[in-house]
Amino acid sequence: MDNKFPGKDVTISDLKEKFPLAAKKNKNHQSKIDICGHVFGGKKIPIFAGPNMVESKELIFDVAKNIKKIGSSFMRGGAFKPLTFPYRSKKFNETREKGIEWLMQAKEKFKIPIITEVMETKFLPLVTEVTDIIQIGSRNMQNYPFLVDCAQTGMPIMLKRHYGSSIRDWLGAAEYILKEGNKNVLLCERGVVVPHTHRNTSRFLLDLQVIPAAKELTHLPIISDPSHATFWSPWVKSMTLASIAAGADGIMLEVHPNPRESAVDPLQPISYGEFKRLREEMKKVAKAIGRVI
Ligand code: PEP
Ligand code: MN
Repeated sequence: MDNKFPGKDVTISDLKEKFPLAAKKNKNHQSKIDICGHVFGGKKIPIFAGPNMVESKELIFDVAKNIKKIGSSFMRGGAFKPLTFPYRSKKFNETREKGIEWLMQAKEKFKIPIITEVMETKFLPLVTEVTDIIQIGSRNMQNYPFLVDCAQTGMPIMLKRHYGSSIRDWLGAAEYILKEGNKNVLLCERGVVVPHTHRNTSRFLLDLQVIPAAKELTHLPIISDPSHATFWSPWVKSMTLASIAAGADGIMLEVHPNPRESAVDPLQPISYGEFKRLREEMKKVAKAIGRVI
């Protein structure tokens, strides 16, 4: 066995043959990806903040204004949402094309770049008009024809790890994008499923260990999303700080003006005040390891 990475499912031949473009070529090989003037994979750790869903124009304008003031580099929020169950009341329906329009207006008014999810190729022309980073959600991580279509837009892409996937599968998916000549790929750890998480109060477990592990294997920047992983806002602070300590190159946070009123996953967003205080703590941990927020 040529595995020199104990505890991982990746072998030296995988690096050479299965995902040569995603693989690190030497110890110092690290991609620096500049998106709208924010560099991922360098000293600075950019932040994505925003609601789970683009619920209304009022909400998204309020969020854009506040998170920008607090110091988020990008605004996140889904207009097209991979909702776990198909039944929704009117209030909780995806806002889809309308949501994209509100993101566009908020981006123009508050001058903040956007990251938003796309789930189907047919919406790529619409979504790429507004977004600065295409978010490929966990559930689509291995939808290979879709990965290729996203890659061919030439836009920066954030590939969320499926909650059941190995590093090997994740890097294999990233390779599909890189192979199309699209080099602007960010990876995002967002929590994995383990037996004790099969309760609706505790959905996922943040795989902190995958951050240093992925850093041994790939030059692509790694983002951490403690909001989706913990599913519980009181844990977001510590898991964010731990992600920075573990070497994350970016942090994705769900932030909502009234967290418990969030249309989707109301237990996980933090408030503006919590975000502001957390950012101060993030600065301290970043400083301790020679990085900045
Ligand atoms: C999201 O970021 O809103 C999302 C749906 O994330 P994930 O694909 O990780 O569940
Ligand atoms: Mn979500």
